[in-house]
Amino acid sequence: MIPYSKQNIHKDDIDAVRQVLESAFLTQGPKVQEFEAALARYCKVKHCVAVCNATAALHLACKALGVQHGDLVITTPLSFVASANCALYCGAKVDFVDIDSRTWTIDPVKLRLQLQSIYDDGGRVKALVVVHFAGLSCDMQAIYEIAHSYGIYVIEDASHALGATYMGEPVGGCRYSDMAIFSFHPVKMITTGEGGAIVTNNAELDEKLRLLACHGLVRDREQFQDFDEVGWFGPWAYQQVALGYNYRITDIQCALGITQLQKLDSWVAERNRLAGVYRQNLAQSPVQVQEVPSFAESSYHLFVIRLPGHLNRHEVYNKLRANGYGVNIHYIPIHTQPFFQALGFSLGDFPVVEDYYRHALSLPLFPGLDDQIVFDICQVLTG
Ligand SMILES: *Cc1c(COP(=O)(O)O)cnc(C)c1O
Repeated sequence: MIPYSKQNIHKDDIDAVRQVLESAFLTQGPKVQEFEAALARYCKVKHCVAVCNATAALHLACKALGVQHGDLVITTPLSFVASANCALYCGAKVDFVDIDSRTWTIDPVKLRLQLQSIYDDGGRVKALVVVHFAGLSCDMQAIYEIAHSYGIYVIEDASHALGATYMGEPVGGCRYSDMAIFSFHPVKMITTGEGGAIVTNNAELDEKLRLLACHGLVRDREQFQDFDEVGWFGPWAYQQVALGYNYRITDIQCALGITQLQKLDSWVAERNRLAGVYRQNLAQSPVQVQEVPSFAESSYHLFVIRLPGHLNRHEVYNKLRANGYGVNIHYIPIHTQPFFQALGFSLGDFPVVEDYYRHALSLPLFPGLDDQIVFDICQVLTG
């Protein structure tokens, strides 16, 4: 079965991992910092904290902003469940804003209206988690302007969008957000096995994120409370000053991330080329593809299509699978999951994403995918 996405591991990746395995540090060593520095440089951002996965990254991002019980966090229903769960982990409530029917990212017009109605009713919103769906950046300037006018924090879930650009700048530069997070799961743009990162230009947030990612412990005397060299906390001291987690990533993983990142630009170019082949072959068909506004270059984590009404998605899915093409669906709208239904959401709450979902299909796309397979898939779709 040709998968919808997969990792690319080369000899330099394996050599880099072996080197770490033969070194003194498997974790908490120099490769973590080196990976963080490389990511920060790539994204043109000041700070980067690498962690064990993007779900942990989202949790820490919410924690660092002080999201807690009584707060409301808003995200899009078209994402992986982690984009919403991060708020729930903090004891906050979550709500959704529907997507735009052409870009499939959060709709800024609906966002403005929904915020207005929440604030008119005396409510408030703590943070907004936007998702750069399939690798296409949301219109961050517009979103930031709206969020900023209400004093709402903005987190970019850029799990799909490492290597993408917005207004000519790398996604993750955080010009129009407080933080952005990335995932390095094997289906994403680069991989560390499991892995994630948070980037920010805010030094205070960076410090909080590091503290929370490592048990809330400090080892630097300057950060100690009530430190007395000869007392209880001697020269060996570490202090827990907050309730943190062990969300660390290993040096083994970061070594892989460093060599993977070096190949990212060529992979983004190849994904864009393959997406172009899909687009060309589907241009004369009634299949809908994601509209890429002029402000963005997609990283094409996914190539998603929406089938025309006369085609039964379930049948097309089965037919492509039977032919060996591992098509997939991204995503079942979060609010329709049983857990979220139990929180009070219902089918019908977000009609645009529900209509999108009924017809959506993710086609195989990854560097190394043969053009012939793209032709064949398009043949099945249009034939
Ligand atoms: C993959 C993904 C995540 C979670 O990433 P993990 O690294 O697997 O925790 C979160 N949000 C989105 C949009 C994703 O695609």
